[in-house]
Amino acid sequence: MDCIFCKIVNGEIPSSKVYEDEKVYAFNDINPQSDRHILVIPKEHICCANEIDETNSSLVSHIFEVIPKIAAQEGIDSYRIINNCGEKAGQSVMHLHFHVLSGSNLSEKLV
Ligand code: AMP
Ligand code: ZN
Repeated sequence: MDCIFCKIVNGEIPSSKVYEDEKVYAFNDINPQSDRHILVIPKEHICCANEIDETNSSLVSHIFEVIPKIAAQEGIDSYRIINNCGEKAGQSVMHLHFHVLSGSNLSEKLV
């Protein structure tokens, strides 16, 4: 499959790894939007939040268990988690990913 994040998981494309376990891979965003900008992805290809269902939602809960571990490991105590679902919402890579943003330069909060 021609998916850039699957290629990152497979090691076909280099990445700056932050965390890895059997289900999840996390790496630094190549174009950071804040002081720290980490992407957390399932190793399994899931296109987007729209494709989460009862067969794969345990992966998503695992991601949300892993994020605090990554934050502790990286010394991050405040952060924002973002998921863009669909092109009109700004999703440019069609492999489910959660942005973890932190730093003093976070833009205005949305809500
Ligand atoms: P989104 O716009 O929500 O789909 O986010 C995709 C993110 O992937 C963007 O923040 C990009 O900067 C990031 N990205 C794209 N290619 C790479 C790459 N090869 N390594 C790290 N991050 C990437
Ligand atoms: Zn993929």
